[in-house]
Amino acid sequence: MSRLDLHLHTTFSDGSRTPTDVLALAGKAQVSALAITDHDTVAGLPEAIAAGRSLGIEVIPGIELSSRWGQTELHILGYFLDWNDLELQRQLTRFQDARHVRNPRIIEKLNALGIDLTYDEVRSLAGNDSIGRPHIARVLLEKGYVTSAKEAFDRYLADGAAAHVPRELPGPAEAIAIIRAARGIPVLAHPSWLDRSEGIYKICEQLKAVGLAGIEVHYSSHRPEQTAAYLDVARRLDLLVTGGSDFHGVTKPDVEVGVGRGQLKVPEALLEPLRKAATA
Ligand code: AMP
Ligand code: ZN
Ligand code: FE
Ligand code: FE
Repeated sequence: MSRLDLHLHTTFSDGSRTPTDVLALAGKAQVSALAITDHDTVAGLPEAIAAGRSLGIEVIPGIELSSRWGQTELHILGYFLDWNDLELQRQLTRFQDARHVRNPRIIEKLNALGIDLTYDEVRSLAGNDSIGRPHIARVLLEKGYVTSAKEAFDRYLADGAAAHVPRELPGPAEAIAIIRAARGIPVLAHPSWLDRSEGIYKICEQLKAVGLAGIEVHYSSHRPEQTAAYLDVARRLDLLVTGGSDFHGVTKPDVEVGVGRGQLKVPEALLEPLRKAATA
């Protein structure tokens, strides 16, 4: 009956629920172990671990790093990392600083489009240092400029939309190296985001050569044939299999902790191989 959820966001990055809330939702969804994978930050982990302890849910320290992949992004999840590692903290501060350079430029573009909002409003809504486009989307929603976060992305924030500003990002090899340096296990997030011209097999083969250890086979929006195809890639390349919901709360209202859009079931048996890789 119980399940895993190895991809969750909290208020420490762009999720709308606190780590304590996320753990409570996980308990209701019969999740036995989970990973908090906030963007560019490990600051939510102490609260999550404490909440997990009181509910009897294992909390695996995690992170999600964005990297540049041609015109799009490739996200790397990191599991079981030494989250107190000083070099890791230094790298994360660098990514957070890049966000503080980019976000005001997005605000300027929105202002030029006649939208009245300030970066202070976004910062106060976010309440943390890993501020991203979903926070801007929420302020646009609260001020009535859009009727959903999706509309905010489609009209203004998505790649190529009216107020888009690219963020300075590392390459995938660098993101993988940062996780490895903190003794974490690097995993390719939501491979379906990449499924365009290049095959996932080729991409994973290339990333494995620079240290990739796994692939997020189970994911909220994967159709059964996608899950099967990624599982096949994992087997052929001897990559670990992981899975998670990518829960964000209000900016992805259709995705719930543990069950995604209702169909997600990440098998508990995936956890031990991941743990073993981390202790090897
Ligand atoms: P950022 O880290 O500021 O670049 O924001 C990236 C985050 O925005 C992603 O992790 C997604 O959660 C969210 N996001 C990106 N594109 C969209 C979209 N088209 N609709 C809704 N959310 C999106
Ligand atoms: Zn996010
Ligand atoms: Fe992601
Ligand atoms: Fe995510």
